[in-house]
Amino acid sequence: MSNLIDFTKRFGESLSQKVKLSNYSWFNLGGNAEFFFKPKDKSELLEFFKEVKKNDIKTIFLGAGSNTLFRDNGVKGAVIKLGKNFSFTKLIGKEIIEVGAGTLDRKVADFAKENNLTNLEFLSCIPGSIGGAITMNSGCYDHDISQILISIRAIDKKKCKEIEIKKEDINFVYRGNDLSEDLIITSAKLKGLLDKKEVIEKKQIDFINRKKLSQPSKIKTCGSTFKNVSNEKKAWKLIKESGCDKFEVGDAIISQKHCNFFVNKGNAKSKDIENLIQKVKKTVYDKTKINLELEIKIIGD
Ligand SMILES: Cc1cc2nc3c(=O)[nH]c(=O)nc-3n(C[C@H](O)[C@H](O)[C@H](O)COP(=O)(O)OP(=O)(O)OC[C@H]3O[C@@H](n4cnc5c(N)ncnc54)[C@H](O)[C@@H]3O)c2cc1C
Repeated sequence: MSNLIDFTKRFGESLSQKVKLSNYSWFNLGGNAEFFFKPKDKSELLEFFKEVKKNDIKTIFLGAGSNTLFRDNGVKGAVIKLGKNFSFTKLIGKEIIEVGAGTLDRKVADFAKENNLTNLEFLSCIPGSIGGAITMNSGCYDHDISQILISIRAIDKKKCKEIEIKKEDINFVYRGNDLSEDLIITSAKLKGLLDKKEVIEKKQIDFINRKKLSQPSKIKTCGSTFKNVSNEKKAWKLIKESGCDKFEVGDAIISQKHCNFFVNKGNAKSKDIENLIQKVKKTVYDKTKINLELEIKIIGD
């Protein structure tokens, strides 16, 4: 116990207790985090990993929470969200940008445009952070982050040391990669291609408009709930064709604009979203024998 008191004191305002996770997920759902840690810099993060190891405290990493559903009972252990010093954009070569892992994707897209770099426009359509985008290999309209990644820097929470990993040494797949779950990404180097600003701007606006037409906005959702099975077998199509698009559980509903987007209408519980997920998954399986795989991450006890 006294160890734990030392631990909470040691990190001052960077470490809080009993923090409402609903404020950190786009679903606006979830119980409390036992500990919530927002490191100021890498040395504080390294120090924290040494302490949690000593105290046997479980840790999970969080970006912008646009792909994460926290359970109603919250998280035992520490949720780590990178503090503001991990949010930066730097031009380090004619066509190379270094970004902090906490930087929002749309800020990176805007920074690339300001520096006349194309191929990063799709990031303006993804509401997460760079750390989340690399973990999820996020993308849209035939682009994804693996295509523009050069390398990442990350801290290994068990070894308590920082490493750099080249893109060639990471196996990216659709909405994922094979990086160890012990790594918290702290920054990344991304590559663009020089082009005219007007061309980049037009492409960016075009992507944003396409998104507005096909996806709902200003709702409590984490985007696509399930991964697409293939180009022909999109998850939304399977959901619609299996007759699930009008399913609801309490205040957990399915967007009528994009039926792979599950939504907290207002007073849903995380359990309602999870039950809705199970109901849709079972119905799609019964009708098609296809097992839909989750794209969103469900965290908690
Ligand atoms: C309206 C809407 C539209 C969306 N459209 C798209 C789309 O077009 N394409 C698409 O691919 N996705 C889309 N998404 C899903 C989501 O935005 C992406 O998956 C996004 O990249 C998640 O980033 P995040 O920072 O919010 O991650 P979080 O939800 O915070 O975390 C997701 C995962 O990444 C891990 N993680 C986060 N940061 C780090 C880090 N620094 N180090 C290690 N692990 C980390 C977490 O542990 C977790 O496993 C959409 C979501 C919404 C709400």
